[in-house]
Amino acid sequence: MSPGNEYMNKILDGRKLAEQLNSRLKNCIKTARELTGIQPKLGTIQVGNDPASETYINIKAKTCNEIGIEFFKIQLTEKVSKNELLENIEKLNKDDTIHGILLQLPLPEHLKEFTNEFLSKISPNKDVDGLHPYNQGKLFNYDETLASCTPKGIITLMEHYDVNITGKYVVIINRSNLVGKPLIFMLLKRNATVSVCHSYTVNLQSHVKEADILIVAVGIPNFIDKTMIKEGVIIIDVGISKRDGKIYGDVNFTDVLPKCDKITPVPGGVGPMTVASLMSNCFTCYQIHMKSKGMEIEKNKIP
Ligand code: NAP
Repeated sequence: MSPGNEYMNKILDGRKLAEQLNSRLKNCIKTARELTGIQPKLGTIQVGNDPASETYINIKAKTCNEIGIEFFKIQLTEKVSKNELLENIEKLNKDDTIHGILLQLPLPEHLKEFTNEFLSKISPNKDVDGLHPYNQGKLFNYDETLASCTPKGIITLMEHYDVNITGKYVVIINRSNLVGKPLIFMLLKRNATVSVCHSYTVNLQSHVKEADILIVAVGIPNFIDKTMIKEGVIIIDVGISKRDGKIYGDVNFTDVLPKCDKITPVPGGVGPMTVASLMSNCFTCYQIHMKSKGMEIEKNKIP
């Protein structure tokens, strides 16, 4: 992806913003450490060696290292039992030096059906991914203290670029717990009118064509092209697919670029913002922990 100069102002540059946010957070962490003598620490659990999960965990570990969050990983074998995984989650819950816990998804086939059960066993105060039912419930009441990372990253990106959400018709193509569902509440909170589409939506095109803001997270390259969108639409492309070693979003970027008002690139859009939100959530978990010990730590307006 390399848009011509005339289109550069259309790009919602998630990579650049994520760098800025991470750098600000790094300063907050430094100050907090000087104050408390305690370093924020993220505990992750990886089950098996799925290559995509491996890549994502490595990116998270690298970012943690760069900004001063200690990264700790428990690696479990592909065949680990349900009880063993539950025991490891409990171990991290009980460890007072761990402030945030991340269970890398997806889990292997034999554990997939228990995903929600595992997530609900993570202490809500250590829930960096915002996927515990307690934090999901808070979102229902527009409380975004620990909101799911990808939706949080999308909202932060749009707000940074002054995308007006109020009164806009937003179409989300995705209804997963990770992306679509949290976005509904975050967008309603900001006074958007929201439609959620999925694989059973009849006449998807008629919804997409009306969208002022289109958020696509389907996982199919070129799912959206210029014939489907309204002139001046803002497009958030969440999809990530790997084909022949190349990363693709869900949107035919070069095709829609002249017609849309703004768009996130893939890579370099939502992905880095998701990681920045994870770091931000980890610091929030640290703050919650410190507060429980009688120490208030300011975050200096980090979103
Ligand atoms: P998912 O649970 O499989 O969700 C995919 C969604 O797309 C579902 O709601 C599905 O509908 C819908 N869908 C699939 N085919 C469709 C079609 N033909 N027409 C309309 N809707 C269709 O996956 P996910 O975890 O939410 O992730 C979705 C994509 O986002 C993936 O490419 C993933 O890699 C990417 N992602 C990126 C980031 C990031 O940081 N950039 C973070 C998370 C996810 P049903 O519900 O009816 O099946």
